[in-house]
Amino acid sequence: MKTPVPDYLQHVLTVCHDNDQGALADYIPELAAVDPNKFALALTTVDGTIYSTGDDETEFTMQSMSKPFAYALALQHLGIPAVLEKVGVEPSGEAFNQISLDKETNLPKNPMINSGAIITHSLIPVQKGISRAECLRRFLSELAGRQLEFDKQVYKSEVKTAFRNLSIGYMLRTVGVLDSDPVEIVNGYIKQCAIKVTVKDLANICSVLANGGVQAKTGKQLLERDVVRQVLSVMMTCGMYDAAGDWLTTVGIPAKSGVSGGIIGVLPGQVGIVVFSPKIDEHGHSVRGVDIFERLSRDMGLHLMEGTPSAQTILQSRYTAGKNNDIVVYELRGVLQFTESEMLLRILQDEPDAQTRIVIDLTNLTLIHDVGARMLFEGVKRLQANGHKVVVIDSEGVLGEEQVKGNKRVVVTEELERYLEKFS
Ligand code: GLU
Repeated sequence: MKTPVPDYLQHVLTVCHDNDQGALADYIPELAAVDPNKFALALTTVDGTIYSTGDDETEFTMQSMSKPFAYALALQHLGIPAVLEKVGVEPSGEAFNQISLDKETNLPKNPMINSGAIITHSLIPVQKGISRAECLRRFLSELAGRQLEFDKQVYKSEVKTAFRNLSIGYMLRTVGVLDSDPVEIVNGYIKQCAIKVTVKDLANICSVLANGGVQAKTGKQLLERDVVRQVLSVMMTCGMYDAAGDWLTTVGIPAKSGVSGGIIGVLPGQVGIVVFSPKIDEHGHSVRGVDIFERLSRDMGLHLMEGTPSAQTILQSRYTAGKNNDIVVYELRGVLQFTESEMLLRILQDEPDAQTRIVIDLTNLTLIHDVGARMLFEGVKRLQANGHKVVVIDSEGVLGEEQVKGNKRVVVTEELERYLEKFS
């Protein structure tokens, strides 16, 4: 059996192929010279699997799709509060290259519009002799799993005509938000925009965001969880510029577009989607890209506000074991977040107050959120207070080190069957 996912993606590409609207981003001369017919789509799952179709080997520049990652790098090194002192998180409702600042704070409204992205570029920590754009290129190469390069032609072409971005740079310097040379920073920002990728590279990069900052193939935590949350939140509210509201209601996936014709979208815990088609609309978004995202969101039920239905039950089974049938075993399954923990504690509260041995088996859980672990151990404490002996079986190591802290005494790493044998 061959999975039908590639066929489905190919079908979507074919259906959207005829949409010929939009125009190339001719304010960057080199982008006006690209082949307008290129069309590619890639989808990645959280385990790092990539499906791609169409012109998936064609390289194009990241342009504004580099902005979330420059922001991530700044957040990771400086921390969220320090970055918030330089750039806000409010949607601007204005075009991406608007020469404006927030009226009250005098800061750029958010890191996705050019003024915010130029400041964010200046926050990338420079290492000895390595430019900020180069730092970002190295970081993105690690996320992509291969060495990415700059498109020198596109870079030179944009630098020559960067009057608008330069005026934004000078404005930021004038009001004192930017404290270094505006020309150097704007040029660096333009260089970051000229990092070359294919849809497959972007899919690899997005898979890390979708997977809470962990690169599935290496198991490395490349981005902190709170950084991923901050980046995706800003992508959701500001990533699609002055079309953000329309995008949120129709597509409902945190996303970022680039004037080269790419759009990346990341649904946390589920998928990353990347489209490339160079003709863009008046907001700077790929026309066929928007079309595809709307279709995929609808067909695949990916709208964030639809929510993931929580498991109907967290309890796989409850039974008694032991020589005298005096051990009560609770086998759990699925994911333990707030909703499921609440459900579990409600079930456990019906356990009559007695001197029973209670065994809670976590083996079939796929994930325990911190709140799930806290609630579980709070439940354990209360059961103990009622006179029960409680044991939590974690033979698969689902609980993280931090989550077990202070509760090691009740956690057993033996398999359930082996543990129960002692009492038979
Ligand atoms: N380098 C482009 C600019 O600054 C990026 C714009 C975009 O992709 O939205 O104008």
